[in-house]
Parts: sequence; C-alpha cells; structure tokens
Amino acid sequence: MTEEFDVLVVGAGPSGSTAARHAAMGGARTLLIEKRSEIGTPVRCGEGVAKRWLDEVGLEPSGSFIAHEVDGAKVVAPDGTTLVVDEARAGNECGYILERDLFDRHLAKLAAKAGAVIRIRTSATALLQEDGRVVGARLEGMGRTYDVRSKVVLGADGIESQVGRWAGLEKPLRTRDIDACLQYTMVGVQGDPSLNEFYLGSWAPGGYAWVFWKDTDIANVGLGVNLSKLRDKAETKAYLDRFISAHPHLGRGEILEEVAGMVSVALPLERTGMPGLLLVGDAARLIDPVTGGGILNGCLTGKYSGELAAQAVKDGDAGEAMVKAYEKRWRARLEESLYRNYLIKEKLLTMDDDLVNRIIRAIAEVGLERVSTHEILSALRKKHPELVAEFESFL
Ligand SMILES: Cc1cc2nc3c(=O)[nH]c(=O)nc-3n(C[C@H](O)[C@H](O)[C@H](O)COP(=O)(O)OP(=O)(O)OC[C@H]3O[C@@H](n4cnc5c(N)ncnc54)[C@H](O)[C@@H]3O)c2cc1C
Repeated sequence: MTEEFDVLVVGAGPSGSTAARHAAMGGARTLLIEKRSEIGTPVRCGEGVAKRWLDEVGLEPSGSFIAHEVDGAKVVAPDGTTLVVDEARAGNECGYILERDLFDRHLAKLAAKAGAVIRIRTSATALLQEDGRVVGARLEGMGRTYDVRSKVVLGADGIESQVGRWAGLEKPLRTRDIDACLQYTMVGVQGDPSLNEFYLGSWAPGGYAWVFWKDTDIANVGLGVNLSKLRDKAETKAYLDRFISAHPHLGRGEILEEVAGMVSVALPLERTGMPGLLLVGDAARLIDPVTGGGILNGCLTGKYSGELAAQAVKDGDAGEAMVKAYEKRWRARLEESLYRNYLIKEKLLTMDDDLVNRIIRAIAEVGLERVSTHEILSALRKKHPELVAEFESFL
C-alpha cells in the first residue's frame, strides 16, 4: 500500500514541526511523523533558549510554553570569579526557560494549523531511493507497514538520525565530539533567578555545569562532560552530585526529575542533503559545540528546509539545486559561529582550571558588560598578551 505526499517530515521535535509548518504554509501537502506516542515527551533538555531568535523563526513568546525569563547569566570560574553577562551576549541557551514538552507541542499545533497531517506512533524504517534520489520512506505505525512516496523527505530525527545514515550522509561521531549530560530538576534551590548560571572548568571537564531557573526556587541543574574525559557514562552522576554538594544554594534542593542524554559537540555534517532529501537540526549536527544548544538552530533550519521544500515542489525540481540553496542558506546564517565555537570547544578540552581562572579574571577586570568584544580583546592584548595568544588562531 502506497500513499503520496509532497513533503514527508520524519520526527516531530522542534526542527521537524517547524519544517512541517513552513512546508505546509508554502502549499505543500505535508505529512509529519513521530515515532513516540506523545509529541514533546519525555523531555531531555535544559530548556534554555535566547529571546532574540523566536522572532526570526516566526514565533510569538507565550506563557503557554515559557516557564521563566532571565536577564542574563553568571559565568563562574573554578575559583569562583564571576562574570555577569547580559542576555544578548549569553549565548543561544539564555533568555527564556521553556516548558519543553509544551513548546514542542505548540510547534506541532502550528504545523497542523498550517495544514500538515500528523501521525504519532509512526516510525520511518527505511528510505525509498531511485536513481540516486530519495523518493519517500517506508513507515511502520498503528499496526501497519506502508510506503509513503514524496517529492521531498525532511530528516528531522534528531542526534541519532537514521535518515542521515540510510542516505549515507552521516559519519560516526568521535568520542571527543560528544558530551554526556545529566540534569536534575530541583525544587527549593536558592539564588538569583534573574541570572542563569554557567560553571566552567573541572566541575564538568570539557563541558560545563548549568543552573537554568524555571521559577524563583525551581531550576534545571545539570552538566555535560566531554565523553573523552569519562571512564564510563555513570561518572556524570558523580560529577553532578559533587557539583551540587559544593554549592550550598543548590544543596538544599530536592530532586523532582532526572534526565540523561548525549549532545553532539561536532562540526555540522559536510553534506546536509541529496536530491529529494534535506537533513534538519540535530540530524544535520547543527548544534552549538560550546553550549550544546540546538533548539533554535533546529527551528531556523526547519524554517529554511520547509520553505525550500515547498518551493522545490512548486518548481517540480527537488534535486541538487534545492540542496545547494538549503546549504547556502544555513551556512550564511550559522556556519561561522558553529565553526568558531567548535574551535573554542577543542580549546576548552585542553584547558586546566588555572588557565580558565586567569581568563575569567582578566575579562572581569576589563568589564565584559560594558564594552564590545573588540574592545575586550584590545584591552586584554595590552594587559594579558599571553592569554590572547591562546586564542589567536580563531580570533
Ligand atoms: C540533557 C540535554 C540538555 C539540553 N539542553 C538544551 C538547552 O537548554 N537548549 C537548547 O537549545 N538545546 C538543548 N539541548 C539540545 C536540544 O534538546 C536539541 O538540540 C533539540 O532537541 C534538537 O531538536 P530536533 O528536532 O532536531 O531533534 P529532537 O528534539 O531529538 O527530535 C527528533 C524527533 O524525531 C523522532 N524520531 C527519531 N527517529 C524517528 C523515526 N525513525 N521515525 C519517526 N520519528 C523519529 C524522535 O522521537 C524525536 O521526537 C539539550 C540536550 C540534552 C540531551
């Protein structure tokens, strides 16, 4: 039994629902499939996003999916030296703290309202390919196996993307390009709920520890440790428990929930599409290698891929030109920061606590809140040329 759609979207995370919404808005007959029985759960996320990008992906901020709002972040060195950074400079994970399950469901609702058909408990199990192009996928769900033929498939199936693997676009991740994360949602924590907290250095080797506020006394407290620094994944729990007991404002909290997951801190895939197929969000490894944040990059590339897929359907050409247009668009928007942050992540892997302390102290002396990055660098160059030399290659 075969069905036909213009666009088939695999995975109803933020990337897939945004892609389906924009494909449907562009007039494409769109099917969005999700293998789980409920969109949005289980949540495996710190739930932090920057405020500024919601607008860029066509989303209105709403209390229906935002739990809390912060003004910025504290970046804390291992010796306790603290930098306060305003929201605009604090990276892609700082601004709003979402109710991620409600956010994902909101995006799926928008896709449905735009006209996309949604099928939960439906998995893609193979790609249909003919003459070097993708022409659909084999699906399993609701007790049946069937083929859906489509002019474009959008692979938005997350970090462990099978779609990318079936298409031969995915390369295995190296150990040093994965962070193992563990997070507790805690109630009864104390602190300043207007500032998220990022802790660098040996609290979480090669990564960082975070406190993302969901309310005045509830926070997501977690960390990501680079896999190359771990003997086994269970060690992340020892790191997180040590971090919490060393910080009295967290130590009095009670754990409501525990989530574990892997985050890619790799470079994007070299090829993020082929005729008939585009990979979106985590499936294309479009995750910030320093912060591990991928929600907004997923929504952005969801929008780009959905719009381009709908256009390709109208033009009757979902071949190399569509892939080139997609790669040109996401590269223009994201490539520079993804590559720069990859180099920073590589550097962080080699830095000891003493170097992290000296850098944060030096920036604190200059006053990060008040001046531009260029001014900070000029000031650091005069006072601490040896520190700037550490980063010269990618500055
Ligand atoms: C512990 C942790 C904390 C994080 N914190 C943050 C944060 O604070 N901020 C941030 O921006 N990012 C964070 N991230 C990363 C963020 O969660 C991801 O970047 C984001 O979920 C990517 O969205 P996506 O839609 O590309 O993939 P996903 O959200 O993974 O969605 C993929 C969907 O595809 C479905 N699927 C998979 N295979 C199939 C198939 N064969 N058929 C049908 N459906 C399929 C899955 O069930 C899933 O629903 C965190 C990640 C972890 C693990």
